[in-house]
Amino acid sequence: MGQLPMSTPANCYELPKPRPGHRFVPAKVGATNDTSVIVLIECPTWCSSEEHLSEPVRELSDVMHRGPVASVNVPTFGYGAYPVQLHAWVEADPVASDIEYRQAHIEVQDAGGNEFCHLTPDMAEKLADEAIGFASELRHQARIARLANQTVGDSDPDMDEALRQVRQGGAV
Ligand SMILES: [Zn+2]
Repeated sequence: MGQLPMSTPANCYELPKPRPGHRFVPAKVGATNDTSVIVLIECPTWCSSEEHLSEPVRELSDVMHRGPVASVNVPTFGYGAYPVQLHAWVEADPVASDIEYRQAHIEVQDAGGNEFCHLTPDMAEKLADEAIGFASELRHQARIARLANQTVGDSDPDMDEALRQVRQGGAV
């Protein structure tokens, strides 16, 4: 009776343990889809690691770690959909010679993808405080504009009549 070998085909080398805050994930590397290979890379836990498979890189040194994107899309009743946008995410370039790029930092990009800003955590916190101040000013401006338009509305003859009826408790 044949007996299955007790030993399983072993890896030649035992995988090293990932550093704290990291795990091994598959990444696709190669010049073309047909010639690419899947390799295991050490990836920080904040990284959206699916992208290492869905967005292949040509060289292993092209691998970038990126977190989920936060966005502000500014609407307009004028021409164009969302002409002003800001996108931000956490990023690290594991082989950058500059330690600020190698460490986890924040990238901020505009709508066209033409301008990139690189922020340390301290810089991002300062920007966040300014954005909170901006949001407060924006609410204030909305209130000014709404009140201004209501004032303009009162001067409209039809609106005057509607308001008069409302104030008298009548149906409009
Ligand atoms: Zn990653």
